[in-house]
Amino acid sequence: MLSRHIRLVGLVLTLTGVSFAALLGLGWRSLDRFEVAFARALRQACVYIAQEATQQIQRDFKSPVFNLLEQVDHPAIKNFDLPKIAETLRNRPQHFLLIDTFFVWSLVPEKESDPLKTERPLLFYSVLPSPIHRVGDQAPASGYVASNGFFLNPSLAAVLQEEARRFAPLRKNFALRYLTFDTNTYLVVYHFLYDEEDRRLLWGLEGFLVDEKRLREGYFAEVVAAWKHHDAQLPELAMSILDSEGREISRSGRSLLERYEAEAPFAFIFFDTDLLESLSPFQPEVRYWTVRTGYEAGDIDALVQRESRQQRWAWVLVGVIAAIGVTLTATSTAREMRLGNMKSEFVASVSHDLKTPLAKIQLYAETLESGRVTAPDKVEGYYRVISTQARKLAHLISELLDFSRIEAGVRRYPLQEVDLRAVLRAAIETFDQEFAAGRGTLEIALPDIEVPVLADPEAFEQVFENLISNAVKYSRGERFVSVTLSTTDGQALVEVTDCGIGIPRREQRKVFGKFYRGAEAVDMAVTGSGIGLAIVDNVARAHGGTVSVTSVPGQGSTFRVALPLVRRSTQAQDEADPVD
Ligand code: ADP
Repeated sequence: MLSRHIRLVGLVLTLTGVSFAALLGLGWRSLDRFEVAFARALRQACVYIAQEATQQIQRDFKSPVFNLLEQVDHPAIKNFDLPKIAETLRNRPQHFLLIDTFFVWSLVPEKESDPLKTERPLLFYSVLPSPIHRVGDQAPASGYVASNGFFLNPSLAAVLQEEARRFAPLRKNFALRYLTFDTNTYLVVYHFLYDEEDRRLLWGLEGFLVDEKRLREGYFAEVVAAWKHHDAQLPELAMSILDSEGREISRSGRSLLERYEAEAPFAFIFFDTDLLESLSPFQPEVRYWTVRTGYEAGDIDALVQRESRQQRWAWVLVGVIAAIGVTLTATSTAREMRLGNMKSEFVASVSHDLKTPLAKIQLYAETLESGRVTAPDKVEGYYRVISTQARKLAHLISELLDFSRIEAGVRRYPLQEVDLRAVLRAAIETFDQEFAAGRGTLEIALPDIEVPVLADPEAFEQVFENLISNAVKYSRGERFVSVTLSTTDGQALVEVTDCGIGIPRREQRKVFGKFYRGAEAVDMAVTGSGIGLAIVDNVARAHGGTVSVTSVPGQGSTFRVALPLVRRSTQAQDEADPVD
C-alpha cells in the first residue's frame, strides 16, 4: 500500500519534473533564438544608421553650391556690389558651418567706366572667424578696400587665381580641387562666370573653401552627436567619421578604429555626385570618407550576451522555484500519504492489541470459572495472567485516550511540585512482576535527596512507563534495563537504558513522530501503536523539558528526559549524584 503510494508520488514528481525540464529547455532555446534576432536587429540598425548618415552628409555637402553660390546675384558680382553679395551670404549662415570661406572676383568690364581702371582683387568672406583671415589681412595693392565683411588674403588669392586660370579654358561652370595652403587642406569649389554671348570670355569667379578642421569641430561633431540617441529602443550608438586615409576625424564616443559594426562611404566633395559627369572632360579628384557605426557599450555579441544573461538568470530562478515547489508539494503529499497509511496501520494494530489481552482474560477467567483448575499454584498463575493482561489493556487504553486528547489539543497538565523520585518509583512499580518473574534485570539509581520538579505526576508516570515498557519490548533474550535519575545544571535528568535491538541512526529522529514504528519493530512483530514516544515527547515539551535518544543498533539505546528543577534558595539538591 505504502510502496504503491510512494510509486505514485514518484511518478507525479517525475512527470512534473520532466515537464518543467522541457519547459525550461524550450525557454532556453527561445533565448538562443532571441539572441540571434536581437544581434541581427542591432547590426541592421548600425548598417541603416551609417547609410542614413552618409546620405544626410551627401545632401548637406551639395547644398552650398545650389543654395549659396547659385543664389549670389551675378550682376552684383559683375558690378562688385559687395553690400549686396554680403547680404546674400549673411542670410545663409548655416552654410558657414560647412564651408570656411566664400570668395569672389571679377574683371572690370571693358565697356564700363571704372574710376581706377584696374583689375579687382579676389576677396574672401566668412560669417565665422576663419584661419584664412588670420593668415594675412593686408592692405590691397590695388587700392580696393575690403568692406562689408570681405577681407583680403593676397597670397591665397594668387593661388586660387592661378588655378582658376588653368581651369577656365575648359569652359565648365564648376571645378573642384583639393588644395593645401598654410598646412591646411582645403576643398575648393570654383564657379566660373562666362559672358553669355561669348562663352570664351570669363568675367568673374565665385567659390568657397572647405576646411577639414572646421568640419570636424562644427558640422561632423553635430552629425555624430545627433545620431547618438537617435533611437531610445537601442543601446547608445557610437559614430565616427573617418577621412580618406582612415583617420578618425570626429566621433561621438568610443573609437571605432578597431571594433565597429557597420560603415558606409561618402564622397568628400561639395558637389552633387550625380552631376560629376557634367564636368567632363574635367575629372575632379574624389576622395571617399567613411561613416562608421557601433555601440558605445561594446560589441553586439557582448551586448546581446548581457541582455540575455538577465533573462537566463530569470529562467534559472523560475526553474529553481518550480523545482522547490514541486519537491515541497511532492514531499508534503508523500508525508500526508505516509501518515494516512500509518493511521490505518495504527487502527489495525490497536484493534489487535486490544483484542489479544481481552481474549486471554476471557479464556483464563472462563477456565477459572468452570472450576477445572484447582491446584493453588496454577490458579495463582492464571490470576497473574489475567491481572497482567488487564494492566496492559488499561495502559493501552489510557495511552490512546491521552493521545487523542493531545491530538485534539485539549490535554491539560495540572502542575504541582513533585519529587521526581516518587514519580519514577510509581512507574517502576508497575514492572515489578515483569522483572520478578526472572525475565530480566532492572537497575535503578536514584539520588537520596529530593528532586523537585513542577509537573503533572500522572503524565510523567506514563512517560517513564512508556520508556521502560519500550526498553523491555525491544530487548531480545536476556533483558537488562537501567533507570537513573540525576540533576545537573538546574535540570533533572532521567535516563532509561537498555541492551536491546537499538535504533538505526536514520530512525532516531523519526521515532518521536506519531504512528511511527521502526522497521525492526515491525519485523519482530512486537505489539505497539507508534504513539508511545510521541506522547513522551509531547509531555516533556509541555513541561519545558526535552527528550532525546542515543542508540547503537544491536547494542541498545538510552532515552533521556530532562526537566527544569524547581529553584530553591538552598540549592542543596542541585548537582546530586545518583546512588543505588
Ligand atoms: P511502539 O512502541 O508502540 O511502536 P513508540 O512510539 O513507543 O511506539 O516507539 C516508536 C518506535 O521506536 C518503535 O516502534 C521502535 O521501532 C522504536 N523504539 C522505541 N523504543 C525503543 C527501544 N528502547 N529500543 C529500540 N527501539 C525502540
